[in-house]
Amino acid sequence: ATPVMAIVGRPNVGKSTLFNKIVGERIAIVEDRPGITRDRIFAASEWSGNSFRIIDTGGLDFGEDDEIAGRIRAQVELAIDEANVIVFLVDGLTGLTSADEEIADHLRRSHKPVIVAVNKADHPGRLSHAYEFYQLGFGEALSISAEHGLGIGDLLDEIVNHF
Ligand code: GDP
Ligand code: MG
Repeated sequence: ATPVMAIVGRPNVGKSTLFNKIVGERIAIVEDRPGITRDRIFAASEWSGNSFRIIDTGGLDFGEDDEIAGRIRAQVELAIDEANVIVFLVDGLTGLTSADEEIADHLRRSHKPVIVAVNKADHPGRLSHAYEFYQLGFGEALSISAEHGLGIGDLLDEIVNHF
């Protein structure tokens, strides 16, 4: 079966932007308002001879308990189950949040390989928060800018290492 990579993270960290950048098309909806990607979006992609499928998940929100939040959570669960490797996307401009820590706990329980990518590193050296994500316990994080296409090749190299 074709390997699967899932992008997971709290709302507004840039999951859909990263998805579109990797796929090379605007499939996912990028929104300033958090939580716009309600359902999983799939696409096929390829990197250095490795074909894989990529899933953009809606934002994980463990704080709310309404029906939509529950549905999104269920979709994210499914995506995590199907994934061979998970890209845990965090926001280097806002730094580590309690929601990131909750997601990290959750991902740890999945026992899947997790790569932490610190997004919004638009200007090298300007990410004062990059190091605190080491606390999440998934090893060294990769700094990227999904919007400007920085660090994406290194991230893809790391992803296909897990297939
Ligand atoms: P999602 O909710 O995690 O899917 O996040 P989106 O992809 O919808 O992006 C949320 C916001 O972050 C949008 O305003 C994006 O333009 C912005 N964004 C995404 N990637 C970057 C980046 O690399 N740098 C900056 N500065 N903003 C970004
Ligand atoms: Mg989105």
